[in-house]
Amino acid sequence: MKKNIAVLKGDGIGPEIVDQALLVLDKVAEKYGHEFSYTSVDIGGCSIDKHGVPITEEGMAICKSSDSVLLGAVGGPKWDNVDPSIRPEKALLAVRKELGLFANLRPTKLFPQLAEASPLKESIVGNGIDLLIVRELTGGVYFGKRRTEVVNGEKVATDEMPYSEHEIERIGRVAFETARKRGKRVASVDKANVLDSSRLWRATMHRISEEYPDVEYSDILVDNTAMQLIKNPGQFDVIVTENMFGDILSDEASMLTGSIGMMPSASLSSGTLGMYEPIHGSAPDIAGMDVANPIGTIMSVAMMLRYSFDMIEEADAIEAAVNCVLDDGYRTADIWRDGFKKIGCAEMGAAVAARL
Ligand code: NAD
Repeated sequence: MKKNIAVLKGDGIGPEIVDQALLVLDKVAEKYGHEFSYTSVDIGGCSIDKHGVPITEEGMAICKSSDSVLLGAVGGPKWDNVDPSIRPEKALLAVRKELGLFANLRPTKLFPQLAEASPLKESIVGNGIDLLIVRELTGGVYFGKRRTEVVNGEKVATDEMPYSEHEIERIGRVAFETARKRGKRVASVDKANVLDSSRLWRATMHRISEEYPDVEYSDILVDNTAMQLIKNPGQFDVIVTENMFGDILSDEASMLTGSIGMMPSASLSSGTLGMYEPIHGSAPDIAGMDVANPIGTIMSVAMMLRYSFDMIEEADAIEAAVNCVLDDGYRTADIWRDGFKKIGCAEMGAAVAARL
């Protein structure tokens, strides 16, 4: 199969970690007879420096016409004080919007080899964690109307949280379809005891759940979910929720695995085009030192193969190779402890490619 991939390395550790993911993709191409071609697009601070904007129109056009987009990370102290209209993160929101990326998939997987890296007790995470948060990405309070006005002599700020049935339905379907390929359980998270948008969310989820009788469905309030993720994370398979709840819960869940450097993500459209990136930022404190953990980015390309290219065997092979490398005792600094072999970013990429 031939696929065109837009490669957006970005800032900080972005180029180092993306290079390792490309090494792994090249190995997949060689092993399975595929052809991956890469087109580089500047994004974030490096694009501001070169072009005066965080992504150019030509860059956006390349993303839109590609089969998939691979992103490193954007931002850093150098661009903290640029005009808000051209901040590095603006490029991410623009790509999500232009590509219609309404579904954000964030798996939280605790590799048994790294159980000690989790801040939770062995008695809680001992059986492993393998959950997937499906977060709605283009609706809700982040995209609702907002205003600040003076009422009775004091400032009052308002943010609206709109959701329409079709927005809820399409993210619900992503959750149910994905659950069918995993543990066949969906927990829908809302605040239906208080919010109208959550009551519509719950009613719509109930309606579509009837179309998936093979998937076990439950509702859970967001405050209880925050608690359950710490108390018994192993109970969850797929969690589906709206934009802001998903933003907060997915960061909470990511910490269960010990290092943010291990975590991949996918943002999907209604077609096969998706954007794949590790969940962490540009880590300016370790940029250029060859110590960053590239596994989150490598697992992101595994998600690209699985969700955009339907290359299931290839995706499984990457995940198995990462497992083997951890079994072999190799660790980057963020997951290293006594008795293991400490290696750098490039060595980790090479080790995964070699294991493939
Ligand atoms: P960060 O995720 O970059 O770093 C947080 C901590 O985790 C740092 O100590 C860092 O060294 C460590 N870390 C992150 N990734 C790692 C990896 N792969 N291996 C080992 N350690 C890793 O978050 P931050 O410091 O709050 O933000 C830095 C910059 O990144 C900011 O400009 C922020 O706006 C930007 N940011 C970008 C994205 C994105 O591009 N999607 C996401 C979050 C933050």
